[in-house]
Amino acid sequence: MNKTDYNIKVNRAIDAQMIWKNAPAPNRGELIRQFGNCLRQNKNELAKLVVQDSKKIIGEAEGEVQEAIDMCDFAVGLSRQLYGLTMPSERQDHKMQEVWHPLGVVGVISAFNFPCAVWAWNHILAIVCGNSVVWKPSPRSLNITKKLKELWDQTVEEFLKTTIVKHTMGDRFNMKDLLQIVEGGNETAEWIADDPRIKLVSATGSTEMGKALAPRVAARLGRTILELGGNNAMLLSQHANLKLALRAIVFSAVGTCGQRCTSLRRLIINEKIYNEVVESLKKIYTNLIIGDPMNSKTLVGPMIDQNAVKKMQSVLEECRKKGHTVFGGEVIEDCYVKPAIVEVKEQDDIVYKETFAPILYVMKYITLENAIRKNNIVSQGLSSCIFTNNLQEAELFTSSMGSDCGIVNINIGPSGAEIGGAFGGEKDTGGGRESGSDAWKQYMKRTTITTNYSESLPLAQGIKFDIE
Ligand code: NAD
Repeated sequence: MNKTDYNIKVNRAIDAQMIWKNAPAPNRGELIRQFGNCLRQNKNELAKLVVQDSKKIIGEAEGEVQEAIDMCDFAVGLSRQLYGLTMPSERQDHKMQEVWHPLGVVGVISAFNFPCAVWAWNHILAIVCGNSVVWKPSPRSLNITKKLKELWDQTVEEFLKTTIVKHTMGDRFNMKDLLQIVEGGNETAEWIADDPRIKLVSATGSTEMGKALAPRVAARLGRTILELGGNNAMLLSQHANLKLALRAIVFSAVGTCGQRCTSLRRLIINEKIYNEVVESLKKIYTNLIIGDPMNSKTLVGPMIDQNAVKKMQSVLEECRKKGHTVFGGEVIEDCYVKPAIVEVKEQDDIVYKETFAPILYVMKYITLENAIRKNNIVSQGLSSCIFTNNLQEAELFTSSMGSDCGIVNINIGPSGAEIGGAFGGEKDTGGGRESGSDAWKQYMKRTTITTNYSESLPLAQGIKFDIE
């Protein structure tokens, strides 16, 4: 896409938003309700396209589409709950309140590994909040992107047949324009970052991408939501239910072939159970079904491309050179690899980095305080978890003295979040929050309104300013 085409698309998004922002929020919710139904009807086809683009296994792809459907359900309810507060005024016969208004055009930049869900987290909220969206997908996600745009346009057509919106909004309103796709690589993402017409830039991808784009948005005082890399750990206590823990470890470490932002990368095990856990894991890893992502029995599909495979192999080679013990990790063929377990005595530079591959670093801990330090020492702060049935351990880990991540789970692995909570992480993960809870507020602007219904004009803080 060239810059001229990009500008045309952004201008269309602006024009559509200028009208859409005035539609009653529950009407906006009705559009999203219909879109959710459309996604339901097309779930199987969408999931196959997610597999085609991202190479994740079909079960996970279906889960990803379900996440988009769940977002629609959530946002329909939200469309009647975009609440502001009323605050007591210090002045007699005055009323103070806040009202949330639509923001404008929202730019969405997304990564290859969640080509449908991440867009949905942003788009669905943005639309219900009265905005339009300019979406730059990963260059690897164009099949699913095209289909989602097609379903969006189809839903809009159906919606306009049944709603009063068209009559109230006028014919010049092209509702399809509320979603614009701008295909391209880094340059297109930079146009979005630099573009003052785009009021919020929600960018998902590597920390390097966030560090490149955030200063550009900041230079024009724009808003960002940054959802960047993770380096997620599990603390495995001697008080854990090991059967549950093993299932969680394997799902989180090898799911999406280790290419989730929330993948389990570091397993910090109490020394008393270390040998038993590592032996059990090696047995499970030996029997993992690796193969065609469309086969429902497969647990591990291929990596995204040859570059990702090469990167994994070079990191494993570096691990061997550093004296870490590597189990598995071999290339089977093409982009199919065996997930690896790497035993490390202490964390080092290589462990501190997010390698987007199925490599699980395992290590021992003696005290829980020490394990928490190990969890927190990395620069990323996305997801973390503890497996324990000991209340004190669980409470400490979730307290302010515990994990410093945005997501902190007890007896659940670090990956596989529900849409109802705010999703995101601290530090090099970028600090953004998307999806549930009150994440919607970032897609709106807050107006504080004070009304005087008295016959006088008292000033705040009791200031005297008499002009007679
Ligand atoms: P990536 O950073 O290579 O690309 C993500 C998006 O940003 C793409 O659309 C790409 O075109 C664009 N981009 C990349 N570098 C850029 C640059 N320097 N300037 C401008 N635009 C740039 O990421 P990826 O390989 O597609 O996905 C994997 C990464 O995404 C991992 O680091 C993973 O942890 C992260 N991720 C994070 C979350 C989250 O919610 N925190 C979710 C999914 C993926």
